[in-house]
Amino acid sequence: MSYVFPVTKTTNPKAKPDPDTLRFGTEFTDHMFIMDYTEGKGWHDGRIVPYGPLTLDPAAVVFHYAQEMFEGLKAYKTADGRVLLFRPDMNAKRTNRTNNRLCIPQVDEEMYVEAVKALVKVDADWIPQKEGTSLYIRPFIIADEPFLGVRRSNTYKFIIILSPVGPYYEGGLTPTKIYVEDKYVRATPGGTGEAKCGGNYAASLKAQEEAHEQGYEQILWLDGVERKYVEEIGTSNAFFKINGEVITAPLNGTILPGITRDSVIQILKKKGMKITERRISIDEIVEAYKKGQFEEMFASGTAAVISPVGELRYKGDNMVINGGGIGPVAQELYDTIYGIQTGKVADEMGWTVEVK
Ligand SMILES: *Cc1c(COP(=O)(O)O)cnc(C)c1O
Repeated sequence: MSYVFPVTKTTNPKAKPDPDTLRFGTEFTDHMFIMDYTEGKGWHDGRIVPYGPLTLDPAAVVFHYAQEMFEGLKAYKTADGRVLLFRPDMNAKRTNRTNNRLCIPQVDEEMYVEAVKALVKVDADWIPQKEGTSLYIRPFIIADEPFLGVRRSNTYKFIIILSPVGPYYEGGLTPTKIYVEDKYVRATPGGTGEAKCGGNYAASLKAQEEAHEQGYEQILWLDGVERKYVEEIGTSNAFFKINGEVITAPLNGTILPGITRDSVIQILKKKGMKITERRISIDEIVEAYKKGQFEEMFASGTAAVISPVGELRYKGDNMVINGGGIGPVAQELYDTIYGIQTGKVADEMGWTVEVK
């Protein structure tokens, strides 16, 4: 099926940002995609319009009860000028899983990917080409019915905005310092941990700020019941290499099912490495560290792709991993995934989708 979205071009194009000073999520392109949902009518009127503010009723459900979800993916420009998306079908699928949890209506997944492609095509000039830069794509859905009772909204807006972004870390991969959070929790079984929604993030800000105050960039969350098993890191999934085995937490309802996480697992399997999805306690990690078997730690997520962890702090003790440097597995994964995303490494998995 082919989808046609009417395009209203801006009459007031903005100046493109300087690729050398690009940061993350501060600049937005000239256009956005909007589609409405009305109960009884379904999703309708998908369209591309000039980027700009929305008008919403102050009683809109999203403002009061946070019925909202979001996604994140990137478009890259290859050396020969092609525009590539990385596994956008996975974002569409995850959207519907999140929607199901938050009582937001399902979206046609093929239409979703076509909407992303159509918008990226209109603003393709905004994709920066410098090493490490890309166009970040943020699809999101908000409940906009004006209604103060608590129930699912009868109307929604599905919106996609685009933001040209710089490398997550200046000068390539940089090891981060991570704080193991033992006071606040992110998710509990039966909650919304596996849904990609703003509410999870509002609840995490306090812990994030306290870790920052102590000089740590991100938090490693422990499970919400026993505060014992490691779950994930801020906006990314966590991997530990212990005595030759790469371990990541299983998708048991409290972990966000990262697309980069899935890609890491598939690549490591293909390379013949030992990769296990299982619960791993912080005590097991501390024990391994004491025995000199804690070899590497890294995080995976769309924004930074792979970020090595150089230091982990738990209850007053610091573990310096890999001498605080970049581990070989993290480096190889970064080179492979970023290489596939930018067309420099052959895409044997069929993960990239060209925007034509
Ligand atoms: C988005 C997200 C991730 C990473 O998912 P990717 O699909 O790899 O970008 C991990 N954890 C949380 C909490 C997230 O919101």
